[in-house]
Amino acid sequence: MKIAIAGAGVAGGYLAALLVQEGLAPEIYDPMAHDTRCGHRSCGWGAPVRIATYLESIGLDLGEYVLEPMTPMRFDDLETSAPLVTIDKPRLLRDLVRDVTVRRESLAPEAAGRYDCVIDATGVERALLPPCRSELTLPPLQHRVSVEPTGTDCLGAGVFGHDVPGLGYLWVFPIGRDDYHIGVGGIALSSLETVFDRFYQSMSGRFRFTRRCACRGEVRVASPHGSMPFHIETRRKDGSTRLVVGVGESIGTVTPFTAEGIAPSLECARILGTHLEDPDAYTRAVLDQFSWMRGQRDTLDYLLARRDGAGPRLRDCWRFYRNARRSGIGIPPFEVVRQLRGLSHWADAAED
Ligand SMILES: Cc1cc2nc3c(=O)[nH]c(=O)nc-3n(C[C@H](O)[C@H](O)[C@H](O)COP(=O)(O)OP(=O)(O)OC[C@H]3O[C@@H](n4cnc5c(N)ncnc54)[C@H](O)[C@@H]3O)c2cc1C
Repeated sequence: MKIAIAGAGVAGGYLAALLVQEGLAPEIYDPMAHDTRCGHRSCGWGAPVRIATYLESIGLDLGEYVLEPMTPMRFDDLETSAPLVTIDKPRLLRDLVRDVTVRRESLAPEAAGRYDCVIDATGVERALLPPCRSELTLPPLQHRVSVEPTGTDCLGAGVFGHDVPGLGYLWVFPIGRDDYHIGVGGIALSSLETVFDRFYQSMSGRFRFTRRCACRGEVRVASPHGSMPFHIETRRKDGSTRLVVGVGESIGTVTPFTAEGIAPSLECARILGTHLEDPDAYTRAVLDQFSWMRGQRDTLDYLLARRDGAGPRLRDCWRFYRNARRSGIGIPPFEVVRQLRGLSHWADAAED
């Protein structure tokens, strides 16, 4: 089978490495023409330590890529354990495709016709599959900054939602050598810059911030259920069929509440690696594995649509709690309810 992978992000790169192990020889395309300092676009580098298992399966060691551990982590005024790290994502992306030649170009439709199977790993662009059921995305803005304490304080990892209007949060991720990724993302957030300005202002007595780079992106938070179809079959001139199948963010494997896509994209690529011959079984396996994302999407829809001033439902609190537990974050149930009160306040602010 002649296979092309469009996109050398986490999903495409990891799938390529898995296929090479199976004795296949995928060809991978990615123009990587992103106007960012690191040359990548989805440049969030926060990941759970459990991604070590995926890397091990292709002979890579997570320890080689860890920039900073992120435990303890601050969630507004609560400090708790979190099995999260920042990783050197550009280096990881390079190593994922170390045994494959990457063509620095987009996979054009005419070139795609030469392959029996084309993988759409183009992330939020979903360049090769038809439009999906729902296009819910959020537009994060992230700065890379150098941080210099003015006193003895040290800026730790944190996620802050209470002061962010709309459905969103601000994150502070240390990436080594006094550098940080500070980002803001959310749905119904009118001005991301204002949130940054307020944050820098509130910290200005303790830290000096120097901006090195800014990255504006788009993350698909529609959930896999909202991102169907995952595959299509097209008929070629000689009568044979060609499969186009999506993997990773192109088919919505991103946590709707938090927009984390690294670990889910690795898992999605793993599933595709074992179901490449049977796309219907692949669809079922992805929907099953990420069924919890459907619930989170339901909560987002509810919070975005509500007009009667009703607060989050019990099931929404439960989903937030389950999401924190799934990530191994030691957040007590009462804190979830408190955070969610804040969430309904954000939604009110967004509607005003
Ligand atoms: C600012 C920002 C911060 C984030 N922070 C985090 C975080 O801290 N932790 C986390 O888990 N997730 C984070 N995310 C989400 C996460 O980065 C993505 O969900 C994840 O990278 C998706 O992986 P992917 O391989 O499916 O797609 P991508 O990483 O988006 O890769 C898609 C690739 O396809 C290429 N491409 C596009 N069109 C074509 C084409 N026609 N032909 C060939 N190639 C093409 C692109 O150049 C790109 O390299 C963040 C996203 C953003 C935007």
